[in-house]
Amino acid sequence: MIRVGVNGYGVIGKRVAHAITLQDDMKLVGITKTKPDFNALTAVNKRHPIYYVVPENVDLFKQHEIEVSGKLEDLLQEVDVIIDATPKNVGIFNKPLYEKAGVKAIFEGGEKADVAQCSFNTYCNYNEALNKDFIRVVSCNTTGLARTIGPLTKLGKLGKIRVVLIRRAADPVESKKGPINAIVPEFKVPSHHGPDLKTVLPGIDIVSVAVVVPTTIMHLHTVMIEVDGSFTRDDVIETFRKIPRIKLIDSNEGFASTAEIMEYARSLGRYMGDLYEIPVWKDTINIKDGELYYMQAVHQEAVVIPENIDAIRAIMGAEQDGEKSRKITDKSLGIDD
Ligand code: NAP
Repeated sequence: MIRVGVNGYGVIGKRVAHAITLQDDMKLVGITKTKPDFNALTAVNKRHPIYYVVPENVDLFKQHEIEVSGKLEDLLQEVDVIIDATPKNVGIFNKPLYEKAGVKAIFEGGEKADVAQCSFNTYCNYNEALNKDFIRVVSCNTTGLARTIGPLTKLGKLGKIRVVLIRRAADPVESKKGPINAIVPEFKVPSHHGPDLKTVLPGIDIVSVAVVVPTTIMHLHTVMIEVDGSFTRDDVIETFRKIPRIKLIDSNEGFASTAEIMEYARSLGRYMGDLYEIPVWKDTINIKDGELYYMQAVHQEAVVIPENIDAIRAIMGAEQDGEKSRKITDKSLGIDD
């Protein structure tokens, strides 16, 4: 049994913690909370042992009758690997604690790539992460792009890749974030997403730009790739069809927007109504004048959860074959093979 802790129990941390409890080869030792809020109640309801990170807040937990099992450093004594799901750029400050405790760590996409020995995506570079001490699961947007572009690199030679990312403004729980009535360009052009994808797919030529729009449920990517004529639209569809973590959808089935996708996702009965797969609109897949086009969406809260579980097996060297890990993870999460 791989003993796992989760530091940071927010949008990503709570989902990874839940997914760990579904694995036969892993045990969730505990999670951390800075304060006794509704997420702490979720952890109580799910019987996850809670460890504190802010000593001054221990009394607050007592006042709310929430039992704590110790501090983060105590949790680190009990685990083989810690998932650092703290907010963007906080994980780097936790790294010395992990080093001191001799614990392996998996960081998330909000950390810079150099926090870890390698960035990680199951389909792109599982083997590179085997037996490392520190790895980083790339962000939701990068994972989404890696899921589709990774397999396409094996289908044929890709030329320049251009991606326009239409980003959700906030997660549904983030009541204080905006915009609520504006479209905000990301003024760093090209955006960081292209270079981030190269951390797991180093051979590609990619440029990306992004805008933020007033929605909370999903990102949407428009992907344009120069191709050399060695494969057809049908080959692309067949490639995507064979990948369980991609879901081909069609506007003719009523998937007219991200709203219908998430309504469908909620009907699947998964934890938090999550959609782990990348939906790609089949009807947007087209090759014209030497360029492949398609559009895909990303359920940002959920897409990295399968990769986090695979990352645990990889960093522990518990499964040498990424495809075997993927199958185990997918079965546990209800992703059809
Ligand atoms: P989040 O919802 O804000 O959750 C982070 C949690 O970390 C908070 O709930 C907070 O818990 C806790 N925390 C804050 N400071 C801490 C500290 N010093 N030590 C331990 N815990 C601390 O953030 P998130 O969206 O889950 O993001 C986590 C990571 O995943 C980031 O790197 C992010 O970029 C990445 N990511 C996010 C998404 C997404 O769409 N949300 C998608 C993919 C990747 P308390 O409530 O106890 O204060």
